[in-house]
Amino acid sequence: MTDAQVQGIVFNVQKFSVHDGRGIRTLVFLKGCPLRCRWCSNPESQRPEPEHAFNPTRCLTAQVCGRCLAACPSGALALKDEMILHDRSRCAECFACVRACPSGAQSVYGETMSVGRVLDKVEEDGVFYHRSGGGMTLSGGEPLAQHAFALALLREARRRHVDTAIETCGCYPYERLRQACASLDRLIFDIKSADPARHREHTGADNALILENFSRVCAEFPDLPILVRTPVIPGFNDTEADIRAIRRHIPRRPGIEYELLAYHRMGQPKYGYLGRRYELGDAKPDDRLMERLKEIAR
Ligand code: SF4
Ligand code: SF4
Repeated sequence: MTDAQVQGIVFNVQKFSVHDGRGIRTLVFLKGCPLRCRWCSNPESQRPEPEHAFNPTRCLTAQVCGRCLAACPSGALALKDEMILHDRSRCAECFACVRACPSGAQSVYGETMSVGRVLDKVEEDGVFYHRSGGGMTLSGGEPLAQHAFALALLREARRRHVDTAIETCGCYPYERLRQACASLDRLIFDIKSADPARHREHTGADNALILENFSRVCAEFPDLPILVRTPVIPGFNDTEADIRAIRRHIPRRPGIEYELLAYHRMGQPKYGYLGRRYELGDAKPDDRLMERLKEIAR
């Protein structure tokens, strides 16, 4: 099988991003992640397989339409007070309702795509990359959760002279990262907390492997530009001590930058579409605190 034929599950291809690498970029979001960050703005990325979502605000109403009710073979959709209700415990994720729905209220996050198809899509914006120094950034989820697919995407992009970057949480065997770096122009590496217990509590996983992978990649690829990022989450890592502790893990050398990302809740509606609860409902970003933390990060 050639790299172009390798298949994986992608849940979004987003064009014209200017925040995730150099220049104008196309972000390719891969499904699957080993972490379960409580603030995750892409909850649809976490499970590895395609998953059903229902956005009631787009529904034409059962009186006007009702096609999904007739299409569902599992009794997972019902009518209550003239509203469509989705019972996740009965849903077989067959996506018959998605195919029947004319409005996009029933939808599926995740689609099987080949590397060739993804790169064809990415290359539609080639003219912008050449002018801005941009290219393709793999994101997720954790792109290296589907490592065979992600590595084939990076190699094929290299063959097509597309600039490559990857956004990673760093939580997987080091060998995956080592192989990815061979085809990378820039690495974007998240470090969320230096405190093992807090990291486990808020992301579901220990940070030891993440910090070890970061240290190894810095040592083994001294010429690779690396952007370290920390999403600043109220009540989790938003103190000066938290940022200083992370800063101590980042080598001071040319080519390594450190950036803080302000907390936002733009992903919150998607929790509802997936039948999940957003756990940080009351959290609020503090702009003045953020400015102080950015000073420390610098
Ligand atoms: S995905 Fe299939 S089982 Fe689930 S609600 Fe839609 S039609 Fe029913
Ligand atoms: S098929 Fe779509 S638009 Fe029609 S009732 Fe179902 S959710 Fe609403």
